[in-house]
Parts: sequence; structure tokens; C-alpha cells
Amino acid sequence: MNEMEINEMIIKCPACSVEGVAKSIMKEIEIPHFGKVLETTIQCPDCGFKHSDIIALEQNDPARYVIEINKNNLSVRVVRSQSATVLIPELGVKVEPGPKSEGYVTNVEGILTRFEDAVKKALNLFDDDASQENGTNTLKEIQNLKKGNGTATLIILDPFGQSNVVSDNVEISEIPENELNTLKTGFSHIEE
Ligand SMILES: [Zn+2]
Repeated sequence: MNEMEINEMIIKCPACSVEGVAKSIMKEIEIPHFGKVLETTIQCPDCGFKHSDIIALEQNDPARYVIEINKNNLSVRVVRSQSATVLIPELGVKVEPGPKSEGYVTNVEGILTRFEDAVKKALNLFDDDASQENGTNTLKEIQNLKKGNGTATLIILDPFGQSNVVSDNVEISEIPENELNTLKTGFSHIEE
């Protein structure tokens, strides 16, 4: 992966509004077999605000990316655009795009870590027995997958085809029209 920093500037922090400390960094990243993406990161050392986003520099057809999560695929690079839905059906976990959703470049293990963090948050929020049991089981399954034990399916649904899974083992297919209509794009909904 080639990275080229194309712009760095000091901006007013969008979170705490302090002038002159937050940094905005734009990078053009060339991802093999995918193309160029623009990554923008804003970081404020004052209040800890951090936001990053990925914009693919080309728009494509709606696409579904499917890869098996197993010990050999943990380091496979994953590009998740801000409009993509990410799910692991076996674990019953899913992230849908919302207005605050971020595009990011990570790997399969990084996706698992994001789900792990989300489940941990849910465990702190919901303290009824059923939620605790479900959450604890899901957490165990995610942690097992991260250790390379067992398999599951990672599915990314992107109405703009700007995500990608960079591996020979990925299956990329079109999204049928009827399914496409039920996909959130992040532009008109208020849930994440
Ligand atoms: Zn700030």
C-alpha cells in the first residue's frame, strides 16, 4: 500500500471549537487491485476528538463482498466506505451506516475488534440477564475468531461499490434490486 500525504493543516476543532490545535491530514492511498482512495483524518489533542473518513475516488456499481473469517484471512485488507453495511450473520452482528459513520481501511481482525468494542459497550448499557448472556456469548465467539479458532462469514454490502476486500478469496457479486432498496446509505437515517 502506497501512501502519499497530500495536505496537512491546522483547523478549528469541530468538537470543542478550540482554534489552532486540531490537525487535519489528507492522504491519498493507493490500494492494490482497488485504486486510489482519499483518507481524511481530523485529530484534536485538546479534547481527544478523532474522525477519519475514506472517499473512493471513483463510484462503482452496488457490490456485495463475502469472505470467510478464518485464521488465514485475519490480515486481509478491508476497505469499508461510509455507506457500507458490515455483518457477520453467524454472530448476529451488523453495523449499518449512519450520518456519523466513518469510512476506514483496516483488516479482517480490525473489523472483529470493532465488533468486539461495540458488544462491550452494549454489555455496559444493557444489564438484563438475556442481554448479558447474549452479549457474553457473542464476545467469546468474536475473541475466538480473533485467535484464529473457528470460522464465520464477513459480508460487506455497499450500494456505491466503494468498499473492498483485497484477497483472492473474496467473492464479489451484485446486489439484487429488491435487496438494494432495503439497504441504508447513511444519508437519510439517524441510527448507527
Ligand atoms: Zn477539540
